[in-house]
Amino acid sequence: MKILVTGKGGREHALITALSESPQKHELYSYPGSDAIATLATRVDLAGLPELIQWMKDHAIDLCVAGEEAWLVKDRGLANLCAEANIPCWGPYKESAQLEASKIFAKRFLQRHSIPTADFTVATTAAEAKAALNQFPIVLKFDGLAAGKGVAVCPDRAEAEAFIDDVLEKRVFGAGDLLIEQCLSGPEISIFVSVCDDQYQILMPARDYKRIGDNDQGPNTGGMGAVASRQLATPELMTQIENEMVKVTVQGLQKDGLKYRGFLYFGIMLTPTGPQMLEFNCRFGDPEAEAVMPMVRGDFANYVFEAAKGSLKPELIQFAEGWSICLISASAGYPVSSRNGDVISGLESVEGARVYHCGTRKNAAGQFETNGGRVLAIVAQGTTRQEARDKAYAESRKVTFDGLQRRTDIATMHFD
Ligand code: AMP
Repeated sequence: MKILVTGKGGREHALITALSESPQKHELYSYPGSDAIATLATRVDLAGLPELIQWMKDHAIDLCVAGEEAWLVKDRGLANLCAEANIPCWGPYKESAQLEASKIFAKRFLQRHSIPTADFTVATTAAEAKAALNQFPIVLKFDGLAAGKGVAVCPDRAEAEAFIDDVLEKRVFGAGDLLIEQCLSGPEISIFVSVCDDQYQILMPARDYKRIGDNDQGPNTGGMGAVASRQLATPELMTQIENEMVKVTVQGLQKDGLKYRGFLYFGIMLTPTGPQMLEFNCRFGDPEAEAVMPMVRGDFANYVFEAAKGSLKPELIQFAEGWSICLISASAGYPVSSRNGDVISGLESVEGARVYHCGTRKNAAGQFETNGGRVLAIVAQGTTRQEARDKAYAESRKVTFDGLQRRTDIATMHFD
C-alpha cells in the first residue's frame, strides 16, 4: 500500500512509526513531513492542497491519513477533495471538522444532542463580551483554530478583559467570535475514538498537560506531556462516557448528516456532577498520539485503511496493558516565542524509549537542532505508572539543548 500522512510534528512521527511497524511493509509518504520523519516516509514538497490531491492521484496513493487538523478545513477540505479523487481518507469532511474548527459549532452540536457540557454564551464585540462577564473564574474561547492557545481560564475581570481585547479588538488569532463559558473543575481525560459512519471503537484514554510549568502554572501550550493507560478510567466511568457522550455523538453526526471517518477526540472534565464535554478534536491529539501509538499492537495500517473505506474492524488492533508516558522538551521562550537553531545532543544515547520529533531540523553539519516550540517527545512504557515515569524521565534527561524546558510533574500531577 502507498500511504500518505499529512502533518509534520510529533503526532505524525508517531503515526508514521506505527504504520511502518505494521506487519506488511508499506510505502510511506509525508506532507510536508520533517527531516526526522524522512527516515521513515518520503517527504512530498508541494505548494498546497490542490497540488497534493493531484500528486496523490498521479502516484496512486491508496490511503491518506490526516494528522494535522488544519488541512481538514483548508480549501474545500482534505477529506472532501480525497473523496472526489477516490482516495480513501482517514479524517473527516470539512463540514464535520467544524466540530474542532469552531467551538461554537461544537457547543451547539452538544446542546442539540443533549450531551453534558458547560453553559455558554457567544459574543461578537468586546463590549458584548465584557457585559457578559458575570462570574469568576470564567472561561473564554476564541472560535477558531489556535493551536491550543485560544482558550483562557480567567480568575478575575482584569484578565478576562485583557483576553477579550486580544481576541476581539487586536484580533491576535484572526477573525472570529468569542465563547464565554461557565468554569468547571475536576480532572480531565481525553478519550480517543475511531469513528466510521455509524460504527465506532473507543481506543485508549489519555491525559495531557497543557500548561508550560509544573503544577499547571503559566500559559497554555500545545501540550507538555501526556500519559496513556486503560487504568486512567474505571470500566464504570468508560461505560458512562460511552453512553452519555460517544454513542450520542456518533448518532448525532448521523442525524445531522455530518459524514465522519477518522479519529475523534473527546476532551472531558470529570466534575463532581459527572463527566462534561469540553471540546472535540477531529484527529488524534498531540502529544497524546505520542503516548498512545507505542501501545498499539496488530495491523494498524490495515485497520486505518479498512476504516477509511467504511468498514471498522476493531479486531485488527489491540492495546498493550500498562502505562505509557510522553515528556515534551520545549525550546527557549516557548510558548510566547520559540528559539530555533539550538543543537540537540544525546539523541543516540536514548534506549528503550521512543523519540518522536515535534519541531526539529537537520543543520548543515547533519545535527538535529530545534525548529519550533515543542521540540521532542520522549516516550516510555511500564507495567506501573511509576516504572513508565522513571524510564521516561531517565531517557529524557539524556537529551539536551540550550534553553530546554521540560515539566517535572508529568504523570504525577492530577494523580497524587
Ligand atoms: P479546550 O481547548 O476547549 O479543551 O480548552 C483547553 C483547556 O482549557 C481544557 O483542557 C481545560 O483545561 C480548560 N477548559 C476549557 N473549558 C473549560 C471549562 N468550561 N471549565 C474549566 N476549564 C476549562
